[in-house]
Amino acid sequence: MLSRVIGFTKANVGYAHPYLISARRRNCDGDEDSCMLLMDCLLNFSPSFLPASRGGTMDAPIVMTVLLDPKEVDDEVHAMECAPAFPLSFYRATLETKSPADVEVEQIRDRLGKPEQFRNIHSTHSTSSIDEAPLRSSYVLIGSMAEKVEAQFNLCDKIRAVDAADAARRVILTHFLPDLYGNLYRFSRQEFRCVKCNAKYRRVPLAGKCTRDGCGGKLLLTISKGSVSKYLELSKKLIERYNLPTYLSQRIMLIEQSISNVFRPEEPKEKQANLEAFM
Ligand SMILES: [Zn+2]
Repeated sequence: MLSRVIGFTKANVGYAHPYLISARRRNCDGDEDSCMLLMDCLLNFSPSFLPASRGGTMDAPIVMTVLLDPKEVDDEVHAMECAPAFPLSFYRATLETKSPADVEVEQIRDRLGKPEQFRNIHSTHSTSSIDEAPLRSSYVLIGSMAEKVEAQFNLCDKIRAVDAADAARRVILTHFLPDLYGNLYRFSRQEFRCVKCNAKYRRVPLAGKCTRDGCGGKLLLTISKGSVSKYLELSKKLIERYNLPTYLSQRIMLIEQSISNVFRPEEPKEKQANLEAFM
């Protein structure tokens, strides 16, 4: 079961050993991933191709590892159970809703540093085919963020173990509110970007257009109105759907007010009328 199993399947998913997944800098839990052949990396890559902007080196292949030491990878995988079956005591513990830490099932962390860390790693459910499962994740199949949230909460409603109202409260508190506040803050401190040459300006030059080397390109906002208010309607819908506490809905109301202070309400687009229309 060593990570010899790297290949192509009909799924849009890379199958590899959990060690390999954890050895990456970032867990690919639903993110897009890529694979690069070694020689391509050695022959065609140069750090001078990387963008100079911050974050430009984030996904670049600059570090190479030849040995995979389970002790050195992300410790999330150390909690992977490797027993061939769950003992009866495990099922009894589920009835008492015990914490996973209090249940004895053999995990990778019990084997670290021993030869068994690479051998006889069992699974509890076997399969005859590695891609006999969803071939693409719903996260990719579902289009907009609003639809993703809708689908997620339809699922929450069906799972008895999930307190959907609490999940909604948490997603608003930890994701939507910080995003709304953050983007509103960044909107007023944003830069302007030239559509032609990508030059950035902290303030729009008096000429009203790009002044770099007589470029004259149009300047655009780097943070749009849409990116500021994108989670507003979504938050309001969730609050209504789960009848969330008034305090939370008032916080959303306050941020909505701040947003409407910055942006004028949508005006209907003025159409140029033909003179005949008035006769
Ligand atoms: Zn320009």
